[in-house]
This record gives sequence, structure tokens and C-alpha cells, in this order.
Amino acid sequence: MRDWNLKPELDDLRAQGLWRELKPLDEVEGVVVRRDGRELVNFSSNDYLGVSSSKEVREALAQGMAKQGGGSGASRLVCGTHRVHAKLEEAIAEFKKTQAALCFSSGYAVALGTIPALVGKGDTLILDKLCHACLVDAARLSGATIRVFPHNHLDKLARLLETATGRVLIVTESIFSMDGDAAALRDLVELKEKHGAWLLLDEAHAVGVIGPQGRGLSAALGLEDRIELHMGTLSKALGLSGGYLAASRQVIDWLINRARSFIYSTAPPPFLAHAAGEMLKRMAGEEGEKRRQKLREHAHCLRKLLNIPEHPAAIYPLIFGRESQAMQVSKSLLEAGFLVPAIRYPTVARGQARLRITLSAAHDEGQIEQLAGVLGKMVQEKP
Ligand SMILES: *Cc1c(COP(=O)(O)O)cnc(C)c1O
Repeated sequence: MRDWNLKPELDDLRAQGLWRELKPLDEVEGVVVRRDGRELVNFSSNDYLGVSSSKEVREALAQGMAKQGGGSGASRLVCGTHRVHAKLEEAIAEFKKTQAALCFSSGYAVALGTIPALVGKGDTLILDKLCHACLVDAARLSGATIRVFPHNHLDKLARLLETATGRVLIVTESIFSMDGDAAALRDLVELKEKHGAWLLLDEAHAVGVIGPQGRGLSAALGLEDRIELHMGTLSKALGLSGGYLAASRQVIDWLINRARSFIYSTAPPPFLAHAAGEMLKRMAGEEGEKRRQKLREHAHCLRKLLNIPEHPAAIYPLIFGRESQAMQVSKSLLEAGFLVPAIRYPTVARGQARLRITLSAAHDEGQIEQLAGVLGKMVQEKP
């Protein structure tokens, strides 16, 4: 029998440069955070529009709490569905141009509930190699046959589609979380239609950031009504917490009856649904447009300063390869007052360790210039 002493395995993680630990922030004020008594400029948050600590979100939450109180009391199917949940789902469906939508307690829970509800043994799931862990976990949980195509490699996808059996579901992100690049969505949609497959598109890093009204890559390309399953999160650009799946009425009815992470979990607090509804309105409106414009200007500035390729989104990886090197640069940046995480295995493949810079509309140009200046020097010194 294997013993329960985890020390050798923990030691091994340290030795490999793969050790992870939690480091609490003491204060957060927009992009400036305080940790261990030091002020740091945060380039690691997915709060792309810079709203999570804004006056607006505080007001929306306070208003929600004053009206609704704390927890929802039970799962959605028991007595946890409050009027604000239904209203938020209607607003999300309208935003995504679908018949209906369903909210979950997190984006992770969306994947875990939706994918196994729709495909199972005898069916085929085809994923882009760089899909987020929650999509991979959901695929495994479903019991369907799993096939993977190299990132954005549609020839390989086409070959996989030819031999797929049962219901066939393709799963991809629209903007990839650790690379910031986009799916080859137009060709992908053509391909799945040709084969009668369905597509689940995870827009976690695109919603709020790109497309008209921040409606994501599918909207930017005019492909919304050709995609069956739109997944997204309220935790990133919306600055709150929770996830959603937007789809046809039929699919949403099925999920209400079959998605286990939806059925067997207490409904998200009503005040959160209230705040999400308010933030969605703001994000789709003029205020969101202004923040997206700011974000685009920042991205342009960073790209020019670091001489890195054009991206549609707010995520910029600098790939070093070796875990220890990425860690070292991240540490030096910390000493210089910048919070930029090193992303390592197993989040990315071994030998693909990187810094992941994320921009926010709440940054100012000076902060981006300073980061680029420090980073430029470091990369020159440590080729
Ligand atoms: C963050 C993320 C999720 C999970 O969303 P949460 O609301 O944080 O649980 C899902 N997919 C992708 C691509 C993500 O980056």
C-alpha cells in the first residue's frame, strides 16, 4: 500500500521549480495591490475592464445586498431561484443573441455541468490542445471518447471529424487563456457545419473585451447564430463571480434537468445576480466602450514597446521555456514593483513556462511604459 507521507512529492515539486503557494493580498485598489507591506502594480488579473474594485460594482453589490440579503437558501430547483436570477439569465440571452441562458456558480461549474449533460459514452468530444483545464476535466467526466487537435490545427480537426462517432461536440476557447491568441473560428464553424457537429465556445477571455458591446469573438465575426453553445464567466471582465451557458431554449431546459453542477449546488447569492445584471448593462453600454478603447490603447502601447505580435485580446505571454527562468524574471519584476506571474506546468506544457502579462483598462500608460522598460532590460541581460 502507498503511504500517506506527501513530503517526498512536495520536495520534488520544489526541486522542479513547480512549487505553488498562496500569497494573500492585503489591499486592492484598482491595479495597485499591497502584499507583504509593498505596493505592486498588478499585471496578472483577469479584471480586464478594471471594474472589480470600482465604485460602480460596489454600489451594485450594496444595492443587491440591501434588497436581497445574503445566500439564496437552496439550489435553483428547490427554492433558490429568485426573480433576479431569471432577469440576469434573460439579459445574458439577449446579450449573446440566444433564446435562453443559465447561470452557474462559476465558469468551471458551467463546463462540468454542461459537457457531461450533452455527451457521454459512444459520443465524441474534440478539443483544441490548449483548452482550459475545466473543459478537459468536463470531457473526462463525460465518458465520451476524447480527441485532441493541435492548437488551431484545422486539418487535423477535419480528419478527426471524419472518423468521429455518436454525437460530436467540438470544444474550444475563443481567446486562449495562456496565449491570448484567437481560435480560427470562421473556418472552425464551416467545418463543424459540414460534419453536423456542435460547437461549445468558451469566451471567458473575450466577453467584455472584444466584439460589438464586448459580446465576444463570435459577435465580432458575426457567427453568433451558428454556434450552439456559448460559455462565459462573470468572474473576469465583469469583475464579479459566476459563469453562464447561453443556448437554445431546448438545450437550457435539458441542462436544468441534467447538469449536475447546476442542480446539486446552492444558487449563487441573489445580490450577485443583481450586481451582474447591472455590470452587464454598463459593460455593453458606453462605459464599457470607453474602457475597451482604453484597453486597446494599452495593448497597442505594450506591443510597440516590447515588439511583440498583434493580438486581439488583453493577454500577452512572454515565453521563456525553462520553469526556473520564468520564475526568476517574475521574481525580479516583483522586486521592481510589478506583479506578473510565471505560468508553469501543468497549466502550460513542460518547457513552455512563461510570463503572462494581462492588461486592464485601469492601468495608466506610465505603468505600462515602466513595466516594458524594466522587462526590456531584464530580457536583454538574461537572454
Ligand atoms: C477562468 C476560466 C474559466 C473558469 O471560469 P471561473 O468563473 O473562473 O470558474 C473557464 N474557461 C476559461 C478559458 C477560463 O480562463
